[in-house]
Amino acid sequence: MKVLITGAAGFIGSHLCDRFLKEGFYVIGLDNFLTGSPDNIAHLFGNKNFRFIEYDVTNYIYIPDDIDIILHFACPASPVDYLKHPIHTMKVDSLGTLHTLGLAKRKNARYIFASTSEVYGDPQIHPQPETYWGNVNPIGIRSVYDEAKRFSEAMSMAYHREHGIDVRIARIFNTYGERMRTDDGRVIPNFISQALENRDLTIYGDGMQTRSFCYIDDMVDGIFLLAVKENLNGEVFNLGNPEEHTIIEIARKIIHMAESNSGITFLPPLEDDPKKRCPDISKAESILGWKPKISLDEGLENTIQYFKLKLNIKK
Ligand code: NAD
Ligand code: UDP
Repeated sequence: MKVLITGAAGFIGSHLCDRFLKEGFYVIGLDNFLTGSPDNIAHLFGNKNFRFIEYDVTNYIYIPDDIDIILHFACPASPVDYLKHPIHTMKVDSLGTLHTLGLAKRKNARYIFASTSEVYGDPQIHPQPETYWGNVNPIGIRSVYDEAKRFSEAMSMAYHREHGIDVRIARIFNTYGERMRTDDGRVIPNFISQALENRDLTIYGDGMQTRSFCYIDDMVDGIFLLAVKENLNGEVFNLGNPEEHTIIEIARKIIHMAESNSGITFLPPLEDDPKKRCPDISKAESILGWKPKISLDEGLENTIQYFKLKLNIKK
């Protein structure tokens, strides 16, 4: 079985490459290194079951191989990254989605789309089930990401309905772990880097906004099941950890776990920052038989150790 993973040099994509290889698949990874790094897949070069293509998915994609499963994970995912590349982000999840869906049609491949909890915007229903249609500001600064993901979901479903493509959509909630960039701007990389370097942790707003953080190994288990189970054609699943925390709780926990002398600095709130977010994962639990297993403490400990190496911190 052959899989194509776009965004293969990114955080989640590189872990997916590892997982599919471990399960005996041949993996073609594709990435243009916009927000990813060759370091994340360096250990795979030389593996006879892995091939890497440096390519931009916003261009037409030609791949001669037969492909069984396509996972479209390319896309800047950190708000800092997608606000730096607003138009490219919209292209990756419009043109990139069109090209990868077109490839799925040509190869008769199953198609897994990496969507996001951001399709729910600043949610008015809590926790968020898949049946919630969301509360997104279509002209706000975050819309380049949110609306592109919503468009990609719509496009995936159109290919499913018109061409019968076996499409599955993962609405991924905040995920963290090894191989995130120390400067990627998301809250956990920011807080861990700041704590390890004894700089103040930066909280946007009062820190009472919530998020639910899933460790990468759990997320990869969920995505893998979504990709390989039969009879999920046209289905959408929330994947995330339903344990909800305020951002200030996360800041205090990371300062404690990193044995840091950092304080906390409160900065003005970000525009359109969702006030709360928590997945209802009952559908994934009952149909995929999946729920996260790794505690926040264990996941953060692994991530802190990884960041120590990356930041060259000896203590
Ligand atoms: P990431 O930035 O680490 O990885 C994205 C990868 O896509 C990078 O390697 C980047 O170079 C590549 N890429 C970007 N534009 C490209 C292009 N035009 N052509 C080819 N490659 C391109 O982000 P991530 O956290 O690994 O996210 C992966 C996917 O999961 C994204 O689609 C993201 O929207 C989705 N997602 C992630 C989270 C999360 O918490 N990590 C949450 C929701 C959804
Ligand atoms: N956040 C923060 N300080 C930081 C980075 C992020 O307070 O240095 C907050 C941000 O305002 C948001 C939450 O942490 O409320 C999660 O932000 P992140 O960028 O990780 O992802 P999001 O869930 O917003 O996509």
